[in-house]
Amino acid sequence: MVTLFADAGMDPKRDIAGIVLNRWGHAYCNAGPGFYTPKDGKPTPSDLLRTPLGNLTFGHSELNGNQHWTIAAEEGHRAAQQVVAMLT
Ligand SMILES: Cc1cc2nc3c(=O)[nH]c(=O)nc-3n(C[C@H](O)[C@H](O)[C@H](O)COP(=O)(O)OP(=O)(O)OC[C@H]3O[C@@H](n4cnc5c(N)ncnc54)[C@H](O)[C@@H]3O)c2cc1C
Repeated sequence: MVTLFADAGMDPKRDIAGIVLNRWGHAYCNAGPGFYTPKDGKPTPSDLLRTPLGNLTFGHSELNGNQHWTIAAEEGHRAAQQVVAMLT
């Protein structure tokens, strides 16, 4: 904050009364054996979930085993494209 705001007059001793740090857990799916590559001749869970079920498609960051916004957007985009393909 000093780096950002000292030039604007910020003085941490004067302007900061306290700092509260909260921790909020970040769940991750367990990408164990068979998650990324087929195991025992079975498709991976994510391959199954990326296959439309009737007119339903699935998009979630957990399909990639890497729960972040960018993956959520990629998977959501892919699922939306699958719906568009059904409609055209
Ligand atoms: C504490 C925390 C911090 C994070 N920090 C970061 C970060 O700094 N950077 C980053 O890139 N990512 C971060 N993430 C991860 C990121 O938020 C997720 O990967 C992303 O939001 C997942 O998006 P999604 O659309 O795949 O799923 P979600 O955001 O989980 O969306 C799923 C939606 O489906 C809805 N839903 C569930 N069941 C049903 C149902 N039966 N019918 C209808 N709707 C349903 C839910 O209500 C929800 O709105 C963080 C996550 C957490 C928890």
